[in-house]
Amino acid sequence: MFAGARSESEFNVSEKSIIIIGAGLAGLATGCYARMNGYRATILEHHSDPGGVAKAWKHDDYLIDGGIHYLMGHRPGAACYEIYRELGVFHNRTYPDLTNYCDFTDEISGQRVSFVNDLEKLSRDLKALAPEDAAAIDDFMAGVRSFQRTDMFGMMETPVELAGVFGPLKQLWHLRRSLRYLGGAYNLPNKEFSERFKNPALRRLLTHLFLPEVPMWFNLLMLSLLANRQMGLLARSCHDFVDSLVERFNGLGGEICYNSTVKEIIVENNRAVGVRLENGTERRADVIVSAGDGTNTIFKLLGGRYVSNAIQDRYKNWKQLRPLVTLSFGVRRDFAGESPLRFLLLKEKMTVGNETIDGFPIRIFNYGDKFAPAGRTVFQVLFITDWKYWKDLLQDRPRYEAEKKRVCAEALARLEPHYPGITSQVELTDIATPHTTWRFTLNNEGAFMGWAPTPKALRTIFRKTLPGLENFYMAGQWVVPGGGVPPCFYSGRHVIQILCKRDGKKFSTSVLD
Ligand SMILES: Cc1cc2nc3c(=O)[nH]c(=O)nc-3n(C[C@H](O)[C@H](O)[C@H](O)COP(=O)(O)OP(=O)(O)OC[C@H]3O[C@@H](n4cnc5c(N)ncnc54)[C@H](O)[C@@H]3O)c2cc1C
Repeated sequence: MFAGARSESEFNVSEKSIIIIGAGLAGLATGCYARMNGYRATILEHHSDPGGVAKAWKHDDYLIDGGIHYLMGHRPGAACYEIYRELGVFHNRTYPDLTNYCDFTDEISGQRVSFVNDLEKLSRDLKALAPEDAAAIDDFMAGVRSFQRTDMFGMMETPVELAGVFGPLKQLWHLRRSLRYLGGAYNLPNKEFSERFKNPALRRLLTHLFLPEVPMWFNLLMLSLLANRQMGLLARSCHDFVDSLVERFNGLGGEICYNSTVKEIIVENNRAVGVRLENGTERRADVIVSAGDGTNTIFKLLGGRYVSNAIQDRYKNWKQLRPLVTLSFGVRRDFAGESPLRFLLLKEKMTVGNETIDGFPIRIFNYGDKFAPAGRTVFQVLFITDWKYWKDLLQDRPRYEAEKKRVCAEALARLEPHYPGITSQVELTDIATPHTTWRFTLNNEGAFMGWAPTPKALRTIFRKTLPGLENFYMAGQWVVPGGGVPPCFYSGRHVIQILCKRDGKKFSTSVLD
């Protein structure tokens, strides 16, 4: 039921209209908050479906989920829980707790460790693996506990643009319990920090606990959320999760136009006034928000005319997350008792595209009944790869298809010792390359989460406006490094908070439980 919600006719309807480019999570969140604050909101989406990278698709009897794995802050007590209520993601839906973040199998040492939510057990298991690193493990676990008492997303409630002079001080106070771990060695990338451990197996698995480039404190944060039972599984798929947002947006009176690719943002006297679609149609609005790819928005849709040196530098020199090859198998097997996420550290490296791979994550969709018929399971392998290789290969379609098949066969050969018989149990194969991601989202070089969440990127303040351009804002994973559900939602909320302030209105929200 709506709590405090108003029907469209009851809104203090301002005459102002907003066009939002992109029906990904950020675009949908922007749209919902726009409606809650009386702006007319239209989302123009390139694809025929909403969700952007949060995408699931039917393939025969299987539902292949190529998106979000866990929802951070899905229980009361977390700041983003309130945002989820506002956006209606709990409406007729529940998200079971994730209790095991990841099972690591190290083929080199033959060791296996589960990153579970019981921190005492985790600490014991890590020390059993690496007794020589006991002191360093104690410090690591103390870091996790410090983050248990720091709600990082709580810091995002006020956009930096509105935080005022005391904003940074307030943030420091908010982070006081974890400050020691946010700087110094724990701010080094996983790969570098891990070198401090003596045990080679521990080094390998901490490098891959999230992504090698993230700062080590990010792992502490993830494990603290797990220990606080603040990670929920999308047991009905990310498609269903996206549906909850679309329902909320529609319920608030918003409009989504699919198959509507924006080709240009129309600017008059340095004010964004509308968009031109690929089919030549023009649409005008008072405010334009882009929640699509950053490179495309800034350098193509706006012709690169509104950039500072910092923005130029970012788009020229910063790394974005390398794209994925996603192999999904429909398997006649139930994988009961297996962790939904496993990481295989390989003894013999393998090659995917131009990348040499020393390990890969496996997602096992055994935690919901929407993914596969009874007794069957979607089993997914994700390879970090490179854009250029797959893009060039696509010029020669038979070679492109042959390479996809080769990667599949090699993946199954690597899996067979761990899941004997799996190859013969596969009854469906689905392969998505970086080009697939690009086709569905227009994301630069098939990036799946925007900027690489390096220590530098995570500390940079991104503004949601461009210098010299009025009536234009950006939301989504290109203004919140590393992306993720809560930051993308917050970015849309921020845009509307800023707009309300500009328009002299009190920002207001309603909830849908
Ligand atoms: C495999 C995977 C696992 C993930 N796991 C998690 C997780 O466990 N937890 C978590 O919090 N996050 C996770 N994420 C990250 C999270 O899903 C993303 O950060 C988030 O969905 C990005 O949303 P967005 O709206 O910013 O961008 P996008 O999803 O890229 O959406 C942009 C939208 O804009 C549209 N668009 C672009 N250009 C145009 C144009 N010119 N005209 C019209 N439309 C346009 C695109 O088609 C797209 O729909 C995961 C992502 C992936 C891919």
